[in-house]
Amino acid sequence: MTIEVININKRFGDFVALNNVSLDFPQGELTALLGPSGCGKTTLLRIIAGLEHPDSGRVLLDDRDASHRHVRERQVGFVFQHYALFKHMTVFENVAFGLRVKPRAERPSEDQIRRKVKELLELVQLDWLADRYPPQLSGGQRQRIALARALAVEPRVLLLDEPFGALDAKVRKELRRWLRRLHDELHVTSIFVTHDQEEALEVADQVVLMNKGNVEQIGAPDQVYNHPASPFVYGFLGNVNMFHGRVQDGVLASGDASFAVPGQPQADGKGTAYVRPHDLEIDRYTPGAEGIVVKLRRAHAIGPLAQLDLERSDTAELIEAVMSNERYSHLQLKEGETLVVRPKRLHVFVDAGVAI
Ligand code: ATP
Repeated sequence: MTIEVININKRFGDFVALNNVSLDFPQGELTALLGPSGCGKTTLLRIIAGLEHPDSGRVLLDDRDASHRHVRERQVGFVFQHYALFKHMTVFENVAFGLRVKPRAERPSEDQIRRKVKELLELVQLDWLADRYPPQLSGGQRQRIALARALAVEPRVLLLDEPFGALDAKVRKELRRWLRRLHDELHVTSIFVTHDQEEALEVADQVVLMNKGNVEQIGAPDQVYNHPASPFVYGFLGNVNMFHGRVQDGVLASGDASFAVPGQPQADGKGTAYVRPHDLEIDRYTPGAEGIVVKLRRAHAIGPLAQLDLERSDTAELIEAVMSNERYSHLQLKEGETLVVRPKRLHVFVDAGVAI
């Protein structure tokens, strides 16, 4: 099923939770709604599900207006952060629940229910837990059962609200890979809410970046990561160094350093270069070397990467850099040493309307 939301507005009192949001969710794709706490992700998900009504705007399911369709008629399956499995029912009965409460005419036979539940438990790889009760499961297992239960009624859309939010980091990582594999098998149009950028970038086909009720950017993970549309997106999708300065004739002057502004010619004005820690080239300082002169404050080299805390000699601002541990060992850098760094990749945003 395709999902489209058009010009959705939602306020709670004076607070604007969603500001004219329009989005497409293509058939069979997994979309991540990503953004900081309170940006409106859950509200949008609830509006698509029919649990919440927008003040204005429409929700189209398979190109048909579903704005007035009841939640039960939208054929959506849900999984929430705090799974609501029935504690007094076995895993088997939890998964069977949605099938048993179907109207009599649509209800499968007991035999069909058994077969379907077995199939779903195999799909989530937990068939060996069929007779257990939810309190006897780990958090990760409960989430997989919650997913099996949501899938039992063969939803045409799957909505997941921070499905792994309550789990520890390691289980979370395992489960998100597992969710991706499951999605590749089922191809149900799915939307999941997360505030974890790594999770969104790793799992989703498309990422929707939200901020304060607005959509900042929508695109494939590599597109939003490598071509952020705004400083907000740049900052939200990973660690970033900011070099503030002034742009004139395609050159950003920042402290004693200057950089060519890549890409389209931009207006002159106050600007900031955004550079990711691994996009910095680092060398020992030699007089006349081009780049930003820094002091190595601290280095932390564990595993394949060395993380360097640097301090600019001109502005005393801190810079975070990452290089391979191999190169770091080869250079034999010492704390306190003077180095020079050059951005290999940078993105400059000129503040709109701010003249030099
Ligand atoms: P989180 O990641 O913290 O769950 P979110 O992006 O999912 O955040 P929403 O739950 O959509 O955010 O909430 C958006 C804003 O609307 C928040 O500031 C929230 O406090 C507010 N809000 C949500 N539901 C209501 C409500 N029923 N009444 C009043 N305000 C609400």
